[in-house]
Amino acid sequence: MIDDVYDFGLDHIIDTIRRRRAETIGLQFPDGFKRKAIKVSEEIEERTGSRVVISANSCFGACDIDTGLLESVDLLFQFGHAEIPNIQAENVIFVEAESSIDLLPVLTKAIDVVGARVGLVSTAQFVHKLPDVKRYLADHGIRGVISSGDARIAHPGLVLGCNFSAVPDCDEYLYIGTGDFHALGVSLTTKKPVWIADPEINEIRKPDVDKVLRKRCAAIERSLDAQSFGILVSTKIGQCRKDLAFELRCKAEEHGLDAHILFADMITPEALAPFRVDAFVNTACPRIAIDNTAVFPVPVLTPVEFEVVIGVRKWDNLVFDEIP
Ligand code: SF4
Repeated sequence: MIDDVYDFGLDHIIDTIRRRRAETIGLQFPDGFKRKAIKVSEEIEERTGSRVVISANSCFGACDIDTGLLESVDLLFQFGHAEIPNIQAENVIFVEAESSIDLLPVLTKAIDVVGARVGLVSTAQFVHKLPDVKRYLADHGIRGVISSGDARIAHPGLVLGCNFSAVPDCDEYLYIGTGDFHALGVSLTTKKPVWIADPEINEIRKPDVDKVLRKRCAAIERSLDAQSFGILVSTKIGQCRKDLAFELRCKAEEHGLDAHILFADMITPEALAPFRVDAFVNTACPRIAIDNTAVFPVPVLTPVEFEVVIGVRKWDNLVFDEIP
């Protein structure tokens, strides 16, 4: 077994490789799973006789397929993410690495805090457990609501950091998973309270929405006098919003402002350092502007925040950036 908690689906992978007579296999892991890569690779080579190549590049989501590696292999397996159905990528198979962790301890805490009706959301590792969560809540007199998302969302109840279309219309939410970002996104998108039920540390908590809002307001205020903008476009297959970038550039020019479009695979302070502009506008993964903004020397705005800055959108119409 590769891992005690996460299911790396080795038997299914081996079957698929044999059935498709694949000879060269690519593997892609997010950072948290990279330590398992060599063990997975060895087991695949031993059981199938195929050659395995491991991607050492970043892998932030199903949007981030190593297209260079894909060109060199017959099949590419990406671990830890659910497929994004509206991204066309042949010969890529997603292995969600579902968690087998027992949710009961954290759910016994959750039923003490949630109301009579609650929207249920989660990430790829736990989303398969939402029907069980719903049944457990029902046994305790609580109605759990699960809904389907748009064409970017593979499972009912699944949220991505860039897409909250599977969030049902409820007055509060229960997010099953680790980390705060997805819950924060649900809260910022719906403006409703969100409880995080974190099964790994058996904790119920709320994301710090006010802290993020304060930072976003500060970024907008610091950009109000900006005259020049760098509009960031990711070359990653599922993050590339170049049409939006060109639209934003036109809007900037209509307001007498300078705007330059910058393409990059990895959007980092080092990559952007040579470009002297007053602010960046990020059309790549929305997490870059929300999660990581302090590492950049000038404000990094979301597209909707940029519209507020140039005066074509009102502050009270500010919404979370999403990719459909
Ligand atoms: S764009 Fe960002 S939030 Fe969306 S799937 Fe990719 S890495 Fe995740």
